[in-house]
Amino acid sequence: MMTIDKFNFAGKKAIVRVDFNVPLDENGKITDDTRIRGALPTLKKVLADGGALIIMSHMGKPKGKVNAKYSLSQIVDAVSAALGVPVKFAPDCAKAENMAADLKAGEVLLLENLRFYPEEEGKPVGIEKEDPAYEDAKKEMKARQKEFAKVLASYADCYVMDAFGTAHRKHASTAVIADYFDADHKMLGYLMEKEVKAVDNVLKDIKRPFTAIMGGSKVSTKIGIIENLMDKVDNLILCGGMAFTFAKAQGGKIGNSLVEDDKLQLALDIMAKAKAKGVNLVLGTDCIAADNFANDANTQVCDNMNIPDGWMGMDAGPKTREAFKAAIKGAKTILWNGPAGVFEMDNFTGGSKVIAEAIAEATKEGAFSLIGGGDSVACINKFGMADQVSYISTGGGALLEAIEGKVLPGVAAICGDK
Ligand code: AMP
Repeated sequence: MMTIDKFNFAGKKAIVRVDFNVPLDENGKITDDTRIRGALPTLKKVLADGGALIIMSHMGKPKGKVNAKYSLSQIVDAVSAALGVPVKFAPDCAKAENMAADLKAGEVLLLENLRFYPEEEGKPVGIEKEDPAYEDAKKEMKARQKEFAKVLASYADCYVMDAFGTAHRKHASTAVIADYFDADHKMLGYLMEKEVKAVDNVLKDIKRPFTAIMGGSKVSTKIGIIENLMDKVDNLILCGGMAFTFAKAQGGKIGNSLVEDDKLQLALDIMAKAKAKGVNLVLGTDCIAADNFANDANTQVCDNMNIPDGWMGMDAGPKTREAFKAAIKGAKTILWNGPAGVFEMDNFTGGSKVIAEAIAEATKEGAFSLIGGGDSVACINKFGMADQVSYISTGGGALLEAIEGKVLPGVAAICGDK
């Protein structure tokens, strides 16, 4: 398999799929440029070798139609500043052959938003799944998607996939395009390499003990991950809102706490599975309960199995926090997805903070710690502790699918069924 380090881009045109889906304010100004900075090592390597760079990305959800609100023209200056090179802009990503052909070594061309074309996502538009004609429309759109990918591929001599945030999608630019390059002319970028390695560290090259912490609101959205991890972890902390579904399933009185009543049996099944597999399941025993879903609500510590009517569990209680610490201390591999409480409210961040601190401590002692999937990243950033963990994933949905054990199309397109 070709790697970006081995490849010499001198005299070559590289088409690089990045994730420049950056947030913009109402004036079209970038409010967080993390994603642009994340792609720089790959982009700079192409230029430093003496290659020419064609950058492609999506932004937002324009649903297959041109929409100025989502135009990548708004970020040209920011990309130029980040790269230190003027960036040319191709206002139609599917009609950029002349601009691509004219590109010289050291020059950069940014293509307009790929999702202005429905072919990028490859989903038929204007027809419902229930429509008898849907299957034919889908087939036709898949054929158009191949053509679209072929056009993009024709601009360049080699393809680099570096958009981890969309690697779980089989889109024209993230996967299909790879069919138009031989194995020596397609590769993952540096960001993708780091993400894939981080996932391998928690799914394949596991150093023990391995503690996974799954939090957030619902067990239903995490079940795929919990099941996949059950075969791999030594300690599994399940926290956040889902703790109360487990308490109720065991006959607890949970007041107004968040609960998924249709998942009570599932909770019992997870508990039985953990026992059968010898996994230390940490569910917590107490919580900080509030009389209102508000930061300034009255609070009291309650047993998870006995929360008074009108009160709801908002955060992990003191005994539970000790149990979290004990399960994280000494771990050599740690995965954290989802907060232990309503961390957006300052009075209910305590449980998540204890987790973050215990992870930082274990990391200092040599553990590999991966934080990913939306809210736990927001959490660790809120605590200003991003530099105290091993790796923070840039991909929300992509990371979750990867740790569910699914093969990401954007990775498979380059590495086969890795
Ligand atoms: P998720 O998107 O499933 O990872 O859930 C993240 C959300 O779970 C955050 O917005 C938290 O505020 C919320 N959350 C965590 N603990 C609780 C809880 N005890 N009750 C209600 N929501 C919670």
